[in-house]
Amino acid sequence: GEALAVSARVAPLGSRLVLLLVEDLTEARRIEAVRRDFVANVSHELKTPVGALSLLSEAVMDASDDPEAVERFAGRMQIEATRLTNLVQELIDLSRVQNDDPLEDAEPVRVDELVAEAVDRCRQQAGSKQITMASGGTSDLFVWGNRGQLAAALGNLVENAVNYSPARTRVGIAVHRMAASGGDLVEIAVTDQGFGIPEKDRERVFERFYRVDPARSRATGGTGLGLAIVKHVAASHGGEVTVWSSEGQGSTFTLRLPESGVARGRTRGPRIVN
Ligand code: ADP
Repeated sequence: GEALAVSARVAPLGSRLVLLLVEDLTEARRIEAVRRDFVANVSHELKTPVGALSLLSEAVMDASDDPEAVERFAGRMQIEATRLTNLVQELIDLSRVQNDDPLEDAEPVRVDELVAEAVDRCRQQAGSKQITMASGGTSDLFVWGNRGQLAAALGNLVENAVNYSPARTRVGIAVHRMAASGGDLVEIAVTDQGFGIPEKDRERVFERFYRVDPARSRATGGTGLGLAIVKHVAASHGGEVTVWSSEGQGSTFTLRLPESGVARGRTRGPRIVN
């Protein structure tokens, strides 16, 4: 309605401009809808653990003369409280990567260190499922960016690989340099032998709160925000994240980031010149 009215008024200015205006309005509407959905999703995601905590605390009070039941309910309260903490932390992380300019305190970051950190972060979880983790490829490469954000991004990919794989499988991290028109890129590929992602969900997994299997995501303590964070970090660093997957066989998430040539004596990014 509104868009059409506008287009009728400016029609004499030429169809190209009209098209741009209509596109602008549609885009504005889309952004507004996405924002509304996000608020609704956050409310729902917060309500679930809070509701559970409230019911469980009532159950604890009712069971005060049954120490075993009290212990059981208290255990479940702890799980819900952890879920709530994770969710709030990931919301803070997401808002940071969306609002802060990562390149403000960018530095050359050694990829080997990012990989080692990500592996360390998942070691316990992988160990309990007897998942082996291996890394390989080119060493001594550097990327240019915000250390904390890059560590969070790669950590999320490796964590997902472990979470969405059955026991006794393998998670591999391969690092390579590749030439691109705007300068060299570093490619970090995380491959698992997990459940895979159905084709229809493949693009959507990067959306906030989108989960292929909500029950499985919750069981692993997932918030549905991890890949949205990865996508933001990749884009704000001038890179990208892509997914390849085959259902039942596994997935590869590839993070491509601009190389920082510090190892070869050159630096990319803003430099102060007097
Ligand atoms: P979550 O907190 O649920 O893991 P993410 O944003 O990290 O949220 O991922 C979104 C969804 O994408 C997950 O719930 C899962 O369904 C799917 N997914 C992510 N990584 C993988 C993977 N390596 N293998 C299979 N499915 C995955």
